[in-house]
Amino acid sequence: MYAQIIIDITHEKLDRIFEYRVPEELEGQLIIGDGVIVPFGKGNARRKGYIVGFADDCRYDPAKIKEILERAPHTMAVEETFLSLAAWMREHYGGTMIQALKTVLPIKKKEKKKEKKIVRRLISEEEGKTLLESFLRKNQRARARLLAALLEDEEVDYTWITKKLNITSPVIRALEEKGVLEVSAERIIRNPVRHKPAELKELTFTPEQENAISHFRKDYESGKRGTYLVYGVTGSGKTEVYMEMIRTVTKAGKQAVVLIPEIALTYQTVIRFVRNFGDRVSIMNSRLSKGERYDQTERAKAGKIDVVIGPRSALFTPFPDLGLIVIDEEHETTYKSEQMPRYHARETAEKLAQLCGASVVLGSATPSMEAFDRCRKGKYTLLRLRKRAGSQSMANVTTVDMRKELKNGNRSILSDCLSQKIKERLLKRQQVMLFLNRRGFAGFLSCRSCGYVVKCPHCDVSLSWHKGNRMVCHYCGHEEPVPTVCPACGSRHIGAFKAGTQQVEDMVKKAFPEARVLRMDMDTTREKEGYEKILSSFSNQEADILIGTQMIVKGHDFPNVTLVGVLAADMSLYTSDYRAAERTFSLLCQAAGRAGRGSEPGEAVIQTYSPDHYSIRAAAKQDYETFFEEEMRYRELMGYPPAEHLMAVLMSSEDGALLEKGGYYLKMFTEKTKHNDKMEIIGPASPPIGKIKDVYRKVLYVKHPDYEVLVKTKNKMEQYIEVNAGFSKIRIQFDFDPVQS
Ligand code: ADP
Ligand code: ZN
Ligand code: ZN
Repeated sequence: MYAQIIIDITHEKLDRIFEYRVPEELEGQLIIGDGVIVPFGKGNARRKGYIVGFADDCRYDPAKIKEILERAPHTMAVEETFLSLAAWMREHYGGTMIQALKTVLPIKKKEKKKEKKIVRRLISEEEGKTLLESFLRKNQRARARLLAALLEDEEVDYTWITKKLNITSPVIRALEEKGVLEVSAERIIRNPVRHKPAELKELTFTPEQENAISHFRKDYESGKRGTYLVYGVTGSGKTEVYMEMIRTVTKAGKQAVVLIPEIALTYQTVIRFVRNFGDRVSIMNSRLSKGERYDQTERAKAGKIDVVIGPRSALFTPFPDLGLIVIDEEHETTYKSEQMPRYHARETAEKLAQLCGASVVLGSATPSMEAFDRCRKGKYTLLRLRKRAGSQSMANVTTVDMRKELKNGNRSILSDCLSQKIKERLLKRQQVMLFLNRRGFAGFLSCRSCGYVVKCPHCDVSLSWHKGNRMVCHYCGHEEPVPTVCPACGSRHIGAFKAGTQQVEDMVKKAFPEARVLRMDMDTTREKEGYEKILSSFSNQEADILIGTQMIVKGHDFPNVTLVGVLAADMSLYTSDYRAAERTFSLLCQAAGRAGRGSEPGEAVIQTYSPDHYSIRAAAKQDYETFFEEEMRYRELMGYPPAEHLMAVLMSSEDGALLEKGGYYLKMFTEKTKHNDKMEIIGPASPPIGKIKDVYRKVLYVKHPDYEVLVKTKNKMEQYIEVNAGFSKIRIQFDFDPVQS
């Protein structure tokens, strides 16, 4: 028996795994993550190592392999927790141990010094002005210049201050000692002056909030741990509930991780947490460099912070005593990693919580099928918030049948109904958001007269239009020619849906020349801070209409918006994957949720060619549960997750012919060794984009009701791939229960 071991965890050394023999007396007693003492290097010095795997054989000369000396005292230090987590991730999502370790342990990296910043500390404008006057009176010009700059901007570049304002470092230090400023190499949001903790307004929780909080608290204080789903409409006060739950665990001396999709990690959100937890909050985002991230994790390990807020990767913050993981907007697809190991933050959080004795709280207005299904099965505790916390009511939703518009001779992308309502708002000086649903891409064919969509007869997902006039299924590879007339009604208005935000902008400007129009999409947000600029300009009411892709429907509050128009709700409905309806429902609900966040009631208009589709009908009523029932029936019928599990084997190679052959052999191998007849093997087919930059791609799907059976299948495949030289030029990745198409 051999153990694979990494020596110490000095983080830079993660790319090397050493093999040691397990002594007889320890056989069967060690588990992954255990610390052991091993002889290391030329002098056989005693070093601490961690076990990351076991094997019956070794790769190196068995005669040269050294033996583990003893077991290190069992501490269950943070490192050990994360090692176990990495091992679990490797097993459940595939890939190598090194990939898994690099995901959970931040790598310490030497890097060039970041531009230092000077940040204003917690002093009010009043105090600042008084201090400034006193500097001027005493003729302390340099101090005055520096303070004046800081009163203008909370954060300034160090070099700008020294070079341009000609201020020396002793002056900066003097003000630092006075507590006026802080010199920092980190770009994290500090306690901004305007939001001292004292300004925290006292809330009276609604009975529903109260109920959710006390349920959690009672469980927590009696030692019960578990997963909770806070299911509540936007504005129902979920964030306030999370904060109260976090307080429960921090009071008990434990720490909390809060995951928020990066796009929703706005200043507004962050500030609410800062107001509640002050200095003890740390923000992570993708703009932090590796070094900065490392520093943050060191602060967490040292017990300097209680709460960390960030996207998916913030899950791996090494807190000494983690008590709670909150995942806001848990249905978001960004919680699934797109790199190996392709882990899902929800499942991984549950595993981590289990290792640390923590609880998990999920939150959403439109829960993922997975989460709600588990509530139904009693695996999660459901905490519901049915009403909005404030006085606002939900938006009134109208569905417009675009097939009728066509019949009435309106070929425009705006229905008469929506145009009329926009006009009204412009007169009332209220704001409008137009959301062009462009999730995925418009590869499907549909009939503008009757709404018919070309689907795969085997998989019940939309076929994609490929070059060479073929319609192709991305799951099973089924192909058929492109129809020239609608197979259902004979109309010739069948084609791909094409419209970009640019086109919509041009058309809206023409239709409403008096309106001030802003557009937000990949193009207009490419420049740095372009995203924030557009949002703040719209929020300051410098525009009447904001046109955008799904970027605009996520989590922004614009009180003056009273109308939201959804152009082409169908776009995401017919992307070629099994989650299309779920995504559409969720996007439409979010879009409708954007209207009427202020004192005026809100309205939403959904334009569609499929008004009878259950996801559109349910979204119009904002009726999640009816949607869930319908969608679950579809998933059960077709064996898609969460009814069953689906493993995608993504294969890619520069050599198209080799890939073709490899895919075939891998399928044959899986057929031959398959566990039992409940397993279904589909494909290999071409993914939505079959070739990127001269790399060919194929996907093989394996379906089974039992996740663990798929894990075993993956393990067998990994072994088969490793011993067959033919696969050396094929890159293989596994994706369990994929969420992106
Ligand atoms: P969600 O996270 O569900 O969208 P939030 O927690 O952001 O909801 O709450 C929406 C708004 O309502 C926020 O401005 C919040 O401060 C306010 N709010 C939440 N709970 C209450 C309450 N019990 N009383 C008054 N206002 C509340
Ligand atoms: Zn038709
Ligand atoms: Zn198919």
